[in-house]
Amino acid sequence: MKERFILSNVKRVNEDQIDIVVEDGKIIEVTQAGSKDEGLLLDCSGIYVSSGWIDLHVHAFPEFSPYGDEIDEIGVKTGVTTIVDAGSCGADRIADLVKSKEQAKTNLYAFLNVSRIGLKRVDELSKIEWIDKKKVKQAVNQFKDLIVGLKVRMSKSVVRDKGIEPLRIARTLSDETSLPLMVHIGSAPPSIEEIIPLLEKGDVITHYLNGKENNLFDNEENLLQVVIEAIERGVHLDVGHGTASFSFKVAELAKKSQIDDLNTISTDIYRSNRLNGPVYSMSNVLSKFLYLGYSLEEVIEAVTTKAANWLKKPELGRIQVGDIANLTLFDVHHEPVTLIDSEGDKRIGKRRIAAKGVVVNGTYIEC
Ligand SMILES: [Zn+2]
Repeated sequence: MKERFILSNVKRVNEDQIDIVVEDGKIIEVTQAGSKDEGLLLDCSGIYVSSGWIDLHVHAFPEFSPYGDEIDEIGVKTGVTTIVDAGSCGADRIADLVKSKEQAKTNLYAFLNVSRIGLKRVDELSKIEWIDKKKVKQAVNQFKDLIVGLKVRMSKSVVRDKGIEPLRIARTLSDETSLPLMVHIGSAPPSIEEIIPLLEKGDVITHYLNGKENNLFDNEENLLQVVIEAIERGVHLDVGHGTASFSFKVAELAKKSQIDDLNTISTDIYRSNRLNGPVYSMSNVLSKFLYLGYSLEEVIEAVTTKAANWLKKPELGRIQVGDIANLTLFDVHHEPVTLIDSEGDKRIGKRRIAAKGVVVNGTYIEC
């Protein structure tokens, strides 16, 4: 439904109860709960509202396998109003990703893979000639409104024998296009000690809680010095849960270290880890962070305000009169929930987040 409707008696994560009036796609009024009764009322008693969830790392290009899925399946249907495709496409196919956006309801942005072939192959940086600097710049110019950064996957299976070289080239591309990098970390080589010093303020490390050998902690479980320095420079840490990149053990270490503050929580969701786990949905990933001891406010901030600020689109991270209405409605059930990480480690949480619906660009959709 578009036109005018009222979300009545919704509560914010600070437990404030409000009514939100949406008309012609925009938030036109935010008032005390129960003060609005004219027009179409959606009774949201007991339900939480936040600005629409943003997932900074997804794979939304269905044609590619294994890392692909349908935009709305990983977007509005799971409570996420804005997704950022994390480098599924390089210059060769980015135009097709843009086209698929027209059929979808979910807001879409993208990191452009520095490899022109993108995830058509999963060793997309194993040939240096696949990093075509001219094509990257052309794509960036052509799709300015879509592309928010450059993606470079720095793990052994992706770069094969090319080591750190693809990241050095990506660094120059980042400087030349003024776009930040999102760097995927995984198995070495290249090692974390080689990768992190090349990252600058605003660049993103995704998969920062992975439990592989080459993670952010040394064998004595101390945070690596290069990581401490990177945080001081303003490098951003993103979860990117994925099939293989979220470890409860590492997340528990992180919570006790200098990186106990959440930046962004993202899923790295695609068809198989959505259907078979361990990701399933953004709600499921968020419940893991409640289990870890982060407050509901901190968890929701990591998919709203903080993601919006990184995107330099603050309007996506707030509930404000005059803005286009992008909202997520969700429950927090107080009940035991089994949570499984990418290593198969299990934890039992006490609270479970469940998306109930979204308002995306002024249209209400039930989850
Ligand atoms: Zn990914």
